Amino acid sequence: MAHIDMDAFFASVEQASNPYLKGKAIIVTGKGLRHSVVTTASYEAKRKGVRSGMPAHEALKLCPEAIPVEADGKKYEYVSREIMKLLHSISPEILVTSIDEAYIDLAHFENLKEALRQLKGLKLRLIKEFGLTASIGIAANPILAKIGSDFRKPDGFVVICRGAEKEFLKQVDVKDIPGIGPHTLIKLSSYGYEKAIEFIEADDFFLYSNFGNALLGLKKALLACSFSRAEFFKNSPPKSIGHSMTLSRNIEDGELLKRVACFLGAKVIYRMRRKGFEAEGVSLFLKYSDFSAVRTSRKLNFPLSNVQRMNQVLYWLIEELWNKEPIRALGVSCNRLKPFNTLSEQLSFLGARRDLMDTSLKIEEAFGKYSLFPASILVVSEL
Ligand SMILES: [Mg+2]
Repeated sequence: MAHIDMDAFFASVEQASNPYLKGKAIIVTGKGLRHSVVTTASYEAKRKGVRSGMPAHEALKLCPEAIPVEADGKKYEYVSREIMKLLHSISPEILVTSIDEAYIDLAHFENLKEALRQLKGLKLRLIKEFGLTASIGIAANPILAKIGSDFRKPDGFVVICRGAEKEFLKQVDVKDIPGIGPHTLIKLSSYGYEKAIEFIEADDFFLYSNFGNALLGLKKALLACSFSRAEFFKNSPPKSIGHSMTLSRNIEDGELLKRVACFLGAKVIYRMRRKGFEAEGVSLFLKYSDFSAVRTSRKLNFPLSNVQRMNQVLYWLIEELWNKEPIRALGVSCNRLKPFNTLSEQLSFLGARRDLMDTSLKIEEAFGKYSLFPASILVVSEL
């Protein structure tokens, strides 16, 4: 199993496509520098302490010579697609997890040596054909491979051989293990766990009783030599994700109907994003008190991935569908699902606004399902 992660992807694409920017500190930002955040900084700027997610004006204080470049989503998506094609040329199974990251199955290679030769060739082709460097981690399981790709950035090539996992984990910090949320991290460090190896050697019962099953599972997954390839690479999205509700009394009030629809819509968005998808279609279903039912579906010309947008769409659909008769039940579903693209989200929120859904899901990770949820749920609890 290999994990590949492009180095400072957006910034590197800009540098590769404009010779003037090569070797210079650049920051890729949204529109309008003043309220924008850094989506990616080139390594020249990172060396001065500039990080992704930092407000652009702060980045320019740290690194005044940095050249701001406005993000060009179409260009990055194009390069990403071409890179993924290249990955497909060396392995029949790849799992694309973001615009610049993917897992590559190496099971079909005759031996490790041949796999490594192909992966080194891949790195050379990325430089030759795109002018881009990537970091690659190779290990027996996906989590270790991902840690490996992050370990010697940029231009890294880290092989963690069978039997050498523990030796490797001595050098890795607990904070660099993917899947450990900020809340858990603080708790782990309060118990004195700093290095991944200490986490691995922690007592199972201690982990289970203090952190629960998920963290114990992560420990086992880190050391796993085998995992279900078919399960892992199966990336076909479900056809649709939906929620419906039969009401304890009929609703005639349009405002209340919208709130209930938005509540269901928010649940759908949460479930869809937990699974890593966004939607390009929405359906609304209404059942009247005489048990007749109507449904409408809309194909959207933008990717739907957050609650605010969902609310807008549901308002349109209700206006279009509802004949003002009392409602007995309703349902909302998302269809035309595809893997969530952080890029389209970043670009649709040009400026300093962060992805609220992302934050909500991170809070969920630490505090449990629906820890942060729209206040309209309060109305629904009365029904
Ligand atoms: Mg990257």
